[in-house]
Amino acid sequence: MSDSDCLFCRIVAGDIPSTQVLNNDHVLAFRDIAPQAPVHIVVIPKAHFANIVELGAGDATQAGELMAAISTIATQEDLADGFRVVFNTGSDGGQTVEHVHAHVLAGRSLTWPPG
Ligand code: 5GP
Ligand code: ZN
Repeated sequence: MSDSDCLFCRIVAGDIPSTQVLNNDHVLAFRDIAPQAPVHIVVIPKAHFANIVELGAGDATQAGELMAAISTIATQEDLADGFRVVFNTGSDGGQTVEHVHAHVLAGRSLTWPPG
């Protein structure tokens, strides 16, 4: 998949606008367009990996940067009451955009198990 075919690569490139929460050399985080909780942030590596399997196997630095960004966001967004991090993966996992992303969900009590 080329960058121009990938929605989140196009957001990284600035071709599609987003409401940014964090932007550094490795990671971009932005508000989800269809929030499932009062706080719903999508956190992505700027480099393209299809899913968490590719990211985990491919680049430990990028994977670590993604985790560090989630930590920064938890502080920045004042998520002291708790939050959930979700990596939907593949069809059974409900993944619709094939550029690995963490959902950070917060601002309400989240049920378990998920649907
Ligand atoms: P997935 O379903 O792959 O786990 O998550 C993809 C997420 O991207 C969804 O929650 C969806 O609402 C969000 N999304 C899809 N298109 C856009 C967009 O153009 N802008 C933003 N900010 N979020 C998007
Ligand atoms: Zn991409």
